Amino acid sequence: VLQVNDERKSFGTTEVLKGVDLKVHKGEVVAVIGPSGSGKTTMIRTLNAMESIDSGQVLYRGQPVGYKTTSSGEYKTVSDKELARTRERIGMVFQQFNLFPHMTVLENITFAPKYQGKQTSDAMKKNALDQLRKVGMESHKDKYPHQLSGGQQQRVAIARALAVSPDVMLFDEPTSALDPELVDEVLQVMSELAAEGLTMVVVTHEMRFAREVADWVVFMDKGVVVEEGPATQVFDNPKHERTKRFLTRVM
Ligand code: ATP
Repeated sequence: VLQVNDERKSFGTTEVLKGVDLKVHKGEVVAVIGPSGSGKTTMIRTLNAMESIDSGQVLYRGQPVGYKTTSSGEYKTVSDKELARTRERIGMVFQQFNLFPHMTVLENITFAPKYQGKQTSDAMKKNALDQLRKVGMESHKDKYPHQLSGGQQQRVAIARALAVSPDVMLFDEPTSALDPELVDEVLQVMSELAAEGLTMVVVTHEMRFAREVADWVVFMDKGVVVEEGPATQVFDNPKHERTKRFLTRVM
């Protein structure tokens, strides 16, 4: 459903992605692990064109995401309309929650559906409450983000991303900004979504989660995918020295 081919990206003179390939199939949970600075965040942000690429391709259902090759071989931005359509299909949850601070929980969740303008306001509210129930936050619907813990804010952010019924959800280190005791409530919600069959790509430092929930684990180091495979294989029987060294350090 989502595919990356030979993706390259530099910031100034630093090449951060050096030819990344990736495939995400429908219903699959893919965990992206690797040391700090290996390019995980940059890569996941290219999956819904929050970050541009210098060369290569990101394809969603065979269509270019964000950038496409013109007949002359150049890269050009897709139209705003195409980009908006892609982002409706591919939702994102950030490390820092990024809720709108001046809106209530409910307003945060109905914001994107309102903008889409596809549903009546009653249907939007019902959908928002359904999503909030899913993440266990229904009783907090009238609160503002600053009245919530980090874990609660992140659960609202997940509900907000789900409110437009995306096909794929991207999670960029969703628990890294949380106090340790709040990590599990967010991972629990993510595990439930995975069990429901949602297609997910998760950049994470939570190895237990990657091992237990992911179908496929991708290990990145220094801008390349060093090794990938089923979670049990990568964790229990890593093939590459770099993977072994990383896992020894973090497990
Ligand atoms: P972490 O786990 O620490 O978040 P990461 O694997 O997600 O690391 P990235 O955040 O993708 O790695 O960063 C890869 C490299 O790119 C780093 O050296 C970082 O400093 C650099 N980088 C990322 N974003 C930018 C930017 N906007 N401008 C310049 N350099 C950047």
